[in-house]
Amino acid sequence: MIISPPVITPSEPPSGAFLLAAGLEARGISAGFLDLSLEFFSYIFGKIPEGRGYPAVKSALTYLRNNSNYHPGQHRTVSGVLNSALKSFSKGYPGWKISLMDLTPPSEVHRPEELLRICNQEVTPFSEFWEEYLLPILQKHLPETVLVSLSYLSQLPAGIDLVLFLKSNGYHVITGGSLLNSLDRTGKGFDLLRRVLPETILGDGSLLRGIEIEDDSLLSRLSWPYMLNSWQYISGSPVIPYALSTGCLWNKCLFCPDRKRKLSIFGKEVFEEFISTVPPEVMKQKPVIHLLDSTIPRKTLLDILPALKENNLDFYGFIRPEKWISDHSDMLADHGCLMLQLGAESGSYSLLDRFNKGIDPETSLEVIRSCAGSGIRTYVYMLLGLPGETFEDLDASVSFLQGAGNSIDFINFSIFNLPTNCELSDRADEFGIELLYDDSPEDVIRLYMPFLCEGRNPRIMARDFITEELNQLPSVSEALLRTPKWFRTAHFPLIEIPGRISHEAGSS
Ligand code: SF4
Repeated sequence: MIISPPVITPSEPPSGAFLLAAGLEARGISAGFLDLSLEFFSYIFGKIPEGRGYPAVKSALTYLRNNSNYHPGQHRTVSGVLNSALKSFSKGYPGWKISLMDLTPPSEVHRPEELLRICNQEVTPFSEFWEEYLLPILQKHLPETVLVSLSYLSQLPAGIDLVLFLKSNGYHVITGGSLLNSLDRTGKGFDLLRRVLPETILGDGSLLRGIEIEDDSLLSRLSWPYMLNSWQYISGSPVIPYALSTGCLWNKCLFCPDRKRKLSIFGKEVFEEFISTVPPEVMKQKPVIHLLDSTIPRKTLLDILPALKENNLDFYGFIRPEKWISDHSDMLADHGCLMLQLGAESGSYSLLDRFNKGIDPETSLEVIRSCAGSGIRTYVYMLLGLPGETFEDLDASVSFLQGAGNSIDFINFSIFNLPTNCELSDRADEFGIELLYDDSPEDVIRLYMPFLCEGRNPRIMARDFITEELNQLPSVSEALLRTPKWFRTAHFPLIEIPGRISHEAGSS
């Protein structure tokens, strides 16, 4: 049995656990897939009384489940209703805070041993849920092994609590998932985690005992997994996670934490085979395929367009802003592309070039404009606070955003974090970076490392610049207002924007 613990936003299946179950299914192993995060949210929402003085949870859920297009303001309102329901549930557990995308435990989430102590000694927000919801499922299916899949830090407290619960009920438990992979590959503290979760497995699941993967990647064959819970995701249409590749086609950015990942691309046959296994009741609701790739590979995307159209599927995903996209934007839109996530990152070519990004702002602008012109939503990611970033670089980003204007539908400003292990941290001196090694306590896991550049912290300058300059640009503040704060990207392609293609719902 593969279990994804709370908290992951309940708008689509957690991709790692879902694809692992799909990879096993394709090899004749029906490991049940159980999204406990989705069920935990349903459990909480079911406990909120209806009526005056209580958040209108039922109508918020009806809005999100029954509409295939959302008005940005209405989406904000109903998300707020659901979050206030979660807040009132959290009040029963001092120190815990649960939101639609995150969870804060009573102690620092980066301290696994402290989390273990809390889960061992106190009643957690999950204790009752494990007993009432999970135990009957375990007793029905009697799994030989339970794999607890952790992708986000927000799952760590419940993950630890879940492992304790499973063990105390006599089940054999293994822990895996991308959080563990990232910590092992590029972070610090995998050993700390192993002290708390001793039986762990790394990789994509190919190393699971007793399973033979013929070409070393589980994703090379996928079938719809055996789902132990019903498809009750909070979304107007089913959003199905799928990866055309693992690793990255570019694989050259100096601060990339994933460069040691092997590149594998899975062709259109793998996609077509997977789509043929999606149950008819899901297909008739006209799903949206969420392509999970670090960057969607051009050739494979063009290859699968006919299958997407034939099957009446829409899609979205992350892609490097390269020239070919402008040349094909009409075609992509015509084949169901609702949104592209574009890592433009900066308006300064010299800054991007210094870190081997291999993209240039002029091309990014062209791509953003042509996508918007073809009706594809654009979600633009900007990255500020890179080591050595000057005010000239920041001004170039202002000009870039002004140039893109209303062609940007959604925007995300990130502030640079230096991965603990990457080429840039290895070559820190060359880039004037001073690594600050010893500022965190021994018992803390971390994915990033604090640093200074020429004696100052560029992250602080970037943060101020975003607040004081970038957020004030009229087109940026409109894009920020439109950008949903909750449900991660799954709802973005469904947000109504004049001039962009609407997703047409199927029947349920
Ligand atoms: S494009 Fe993204 S995944 Fe690829 S090397 Fe650069 S940072 Fe890494």
